[in-house]
Amino acid sequence: MAEEKKYKAVTYEKGEEAKTAVLMEETRVFEPPKELVEQSNVWQWMQKKGFTDEREMRKWTVDHLEEFWGEMANEYADWDVPFKTVLDWQPPYAKWFPDGKISMTYNCLDRHVKTWRRNKVAYIAVGEPVDDVRLFTFWDLYREVNKLANGLKSLGVEKGDRVSIYLPMIPELSIAMMACAKIGAVHSVVFSGFSAKAYGDRVKDGESVVSITCDGFWRRGKTVPLKAQADEGIADAPSVRNQIIYRRTGQDIPWNEGKDIWWHDLIKDQSRECESLPMDPEDRLYILYTSGTTGKPKGIEHAVGGYCVGPPQTLSWVFDLKEDDVWWCAADVGWVTGHSYIVYAPLQLGMTGIMYEGSPDFPDMGRWWKIIEDYGVTVLYTSPTAIRMHMRAGEEWAEKYNLSSLRLLGTVGEPINPEAWIWYRKNIGADKLQIMDTWWQTETGTFAISPLPITPLKPGSATLPLPGFGVEVLDEKGEPVPLGGGGNIVQTKPWPAMLRAFWKDPERYMSTYWEYYWDTHPGYYLAGDKARKDKDGYFWVQGRIDDVLNVAGHRIGNSEVESACVSYPEVAEAACIGKPDEVKGEVIIAFCALKAGVEETEDLKKAIRTHVGEDLGKIAMPSEIHFVADVPKTRSGKIMRRIIKSKAMGKDVGETSTLSNPEAVDAIPTIV
Ligand code: ATP
Ligand code: MG
Repeated sequence: MAEEKKYKAVTYEKGEEAKTAVLMEETRVFEPPKELVEQSNVWQWMQKKGFTDEREMRKWTVDHLEEFWGEMANEYADWDVPFKTVLDWQPPYAKWFPDGKISMTYNCLDRHVKTWRRNKVAYIAVGEPVDDVRLFTFWDLYREVNKLANGLKSLGVEKGDRVSIYLPMIPELSIAMMACAKIGAVHSVVFSGFSAKAYGDRVKDGESVVSITCDGFWRRGKTVPLKAQADEGIADAPSVRNQIIYRRTGQDIPWNEGKDIWWHDLIKDQSRECESLPMDPEDRLYILYTSGTTGKPKGIEHAVGGYCVGPPQTLSWVFDLKEDDVWWCAADVGWVTGHSYIVYAPLQLGMTGIMYEGSPDFPDMGRWWKIIEDYGVTVLYTSPTAIRMHMRAGEEWAEKYNLSSLRLLGTVGEPINPEAWIWYRKNIGADKLQIMDTWWQTETGTFAISPLPITPLKPGSATLPLPGFGVEVLDEKGEPVPLGGGGNIVQTKPWPAMLRAFWKDPERYMSTYWEYYWDTHPGYYLAGDKARKDKDGYFWVQGRIDDVLNVAGHRIGNSEVESACVSYPEVAEAACIGKPDEVKGEVIIAFCALKAGVEETEDLKKAIRTHVGEDLGKIAMPSEIHFVADVPKTRSGKIMRRIIKSKAMGKDVGETSTLSNPEAVDAIPTIV
């Protein structure tokens, strides 16, 4: 049984810059049920190795980094040429399994079609229009990927060429990515919700030779004219020789003779066989731009070899997938979450997955829960933002559907407020399912801090570094913070799916991630986030380094104050920023979006302030509360504190191309 919720205000001392105060103490613990533990993939591995203690196992894997990852590389991937060397680490550049050869597409498809899995369903593709459902077996994907790969070759695409992909959440997106991987072309996927300009900028930056898009797709009952947008974006991109267009909606589209080619025409006469090119492990698999929450998006390069190992291993251990699971990662393939955990890892593991084209609120807020009921989804992975959206809409939507097929839940993308965590477990997880809160980044390529099915959980904590990940919380000088303290998240050891470079910008690669601790610890990766470790060594991600609030010498993680706001029953969402103050350095300003139907009153503001003060201590009490209809977010659903702060301070808001709701920025009052 979980203990009663208890937040405790703690006293802090003025610390060094990296240190953050510890305000929130969550004392609820959710032990994993015995049945979950005993059948779990990780537990079975531990039994084989003679481990009985989770902490001991996690530590051993980091102390024996190469032995561990070498074993995982052979367990989770098939190699064309086996590797002898696991790691060549010349900080800040790592080569994983450098003397092997491997193909990603072989691992996702070719190897399965040689087995009984050939006719297993790989994707249940749910279109937005109700009843528009397509099933794709591994064989279907194999055939379509081969034909498209041959089509790309016929257009002169070669190994190392970049191909930009601007497609919605349909299996053809996954097919296009694997077709590139098959012939060694480097894909650069751009989220289909991005504007023409955002697409064009990324195509030009990557100097892609081919653009792949579709006529249009469905969003909230309407069609989005994606081909027209793509045209506008690439109008002045001289590198693009051809554009391939998949027919999705059948709507009219502009046509560029000589450049455009229909997908179905391109593949019509192509062979359904195509060699999966064995690649050097350090060859690039893709470039992906980060969501751009903190500024200009960064073009992150990922390499084939390590990436064939990290995603399937972490998916298998954290979400414990079994042959008969129905996996649903409800992110978009346009983000790293979708690259790793909708496309590559689940296919490598031979899993059945859901791919949903549309919006969660179409035709109503019950759509997700209907999909779970209709297809017997067993494991659901989503974001805190989506959970808060469902919380705001009310639990009655989920109540209408039978969600009893679910056996495990997960989240990613932002610190999850304990309140949202509890709501998720109670209303979606029948008050009994464990929730895997996975901390990771475009740069890490896979989960890095995360529970396992065997881990006791605390709501709001991503718990511990995963096996094979050296993650620490360090102060300014590079010393680990004591238990109970806060500081910078640092990865102390390389990991297989790590970023290899920054597209066309080696200096920014060095300065963003490695320079900070270079003098004392060359090779320590600075993640850019803050966390604290509690008395049990659990990690609590407190937010971005730049977002940390500094009140009277105390550095306070914005996520804790936001979580305290959200734990007030009427508040649906909150974003906190620091406003310069002569006396205190900064005071905290909270922007709160209220639940449907709640009246915005001065009394409510007072009540929220008092509540936060009681929860976290007076120091964290916002000096002002502002009600907003909506909190500005990126298209990946992350709260944009940088922009909120600039707007509130009357400054230029800077880069906004990654914003999903610009009208929410206009509604932020200027308060200086
Ligand atoms: P940019 O680096 O351009 O600002 P971004 O960081 O928003 O973009 P992503 O790589 O998609 O782009 O997001 C990674 C970030 O998301 C992490 O650094 C962290 O701040 C946040 N995050 C992801 N998962 C979690 C989690 N489980 N708990 C807390 N924060 C998380
Ligand atoms: Mg980032």
